[in-house]
Amino acid sequence: MTVPKTVLLPDTQALNDLRLAAPVRDPDQPMSSDVYQAFFTGKLDELKREGNYRVFTELDRPRGQFPRTVWHSPHGAREVVIWCSNDYLCMGHSEVIREAMHAAIEQGATGAGGTRNIGGTNMRHVQLERTLADLHHKEAALTFSSGYIANHTSLSVLGSILPDCVILSDQGNHNSMIEGIRRSGAHKLIFKHNDLVDLETKLAALPAKQSKLIVFESVYSMNGNIAPVREIVSLAKRYGGLTYLDEVHAVGMYGAQGGGIAQMQGVEDQIDVIQGTLGKAFGLVGGYIAGHAALVDCVRSFGHGFIFSTSLPPVIAAGAQASITHLMQSATERTLQQRHTAALKQALVAAGIPTLPSPSHIVPVVIGDAIKIKQLTDRLLSGYGIYVQPINFPTVPRGTERLRLTPGPGHTPGLIQPLVQALAAVWAEFDLPRVSAD
Ligand code: PLP
Repeated sequence: MTVPKTVLLPDTQALNDLRLAAPVRDPDQPMSSDVYQAFFTGKLDELKREGNYRVFTELDRPRGQFPRTVWHSPHGAREVVIWCSNDYLCMGHSEVIREAMHAAIEQGATGAGGTRNIGGTNMRHVQLERTLADLHHKEAALTFSSGYIANHTSLSVLGSILPDCVILSDQGNHNSMIEGIRRSGAHKLIFKHNDLVDLETKLAALPAKQSKLIVFESVYSMNGNIAPVREIVSLAKRYGGLTYLDEVHAVGMYGAQGGGIAQMQGVEDQIDVIQGTLGKAFGLVGGYIAGHAALVDCVRSFGHGFIFSTSLPPVIAAGAQASITHLMQSATERTLQQRHTAALKQALVAAGIPTLPSPSHIVPVVIGDAIKIKQLTDRLLSGYGIYVQPINFPTVPRGTERLRLTPGPGHTPGLIQPLVQALAAVWAEFDLPRVSAD
């Protein structure tokens, strides 16, 4: 049997294999549905064999109970404690946000009604963008349907309109940036993760007059590292580059007003573009950039992911406005979150559970085996009522599969202790190595 030449599928070898396994049929007939279905099933079977097949855990997040959540297990509903949420400051349960959203939904429509250009710009978007610009002390801000789209769209615009642009991208950058850079068509140089020497070597090798854009994150979400933002800014100034900083895991969390790491390090006025999300510490959904007015206007004017997509529902904009305004004034959530992170890190060390040395709120525990981590997290969930999602490929490289613990204001010592006890028990059960507390 041969595959008809007109069939364009990514993995023709796999398809051939599957055709052999498919029911015998006339080779002159067009491809049938069963062959396609067998192909898809085969691809999923590959993932399952590797341990990289993703199984969703169905949850409810009952009002005001976080981090206690309800897991809809195959055997019925059960209360569990979630340790892997990106609702870092528990703002998803904030009464301040809830009230603002209630008021907005009572007063207005449920959806935005269009793209920003065609009927979908609401006064609430404009107010939110003013607030975001104020948060980061920038001239302007622009919102998108997600942080992913914010990165993808902004980088594809910047990399394509800057003449002969070279983008210097940190090796650890998020997929949304990688894809945006790819889409821009700009020449890309990858510098070693957080490595100033490598970045400088690459900058120094470029002609002085060449346009350059340095793209990096402040808090790297899978290992918890924090970038040397101040030093990268000073290299950018020395070699004449623009800076684009993804603060998705830092906005709301760091800095006196929750503006992120650049704010905490006192350099936010020197970063050209700060990109963030409304979906993590701010407790909602959506993404944004903040920067110089003309630059932001270029993204607004040329960005396809912005122009051709329905804008955020006004009710989301109202909630985000309330969340940001609250976190600009209140440090209570940040303080509690930081206290619980310190307590968790200390308790894990005392129990000999090896963690990656993370200076941030993210506490990674590497297991390094896709199958084992899935079994271990299943055990934590069913045996101990603790939900931690395994992080596997392609989010992290194969062989570095990990737990990613994210303690928040509600993860009190009364919850930390059972987590560490459960980890110690599964560590013994799975015969995982411990480290000495000394
Ligand atoms: N940037 C980074 C570093 C991220 O980790 C993520 C998502 O986790 C995004 C961007 C995308 O943000 P959002 O979830 O708002 O789409």
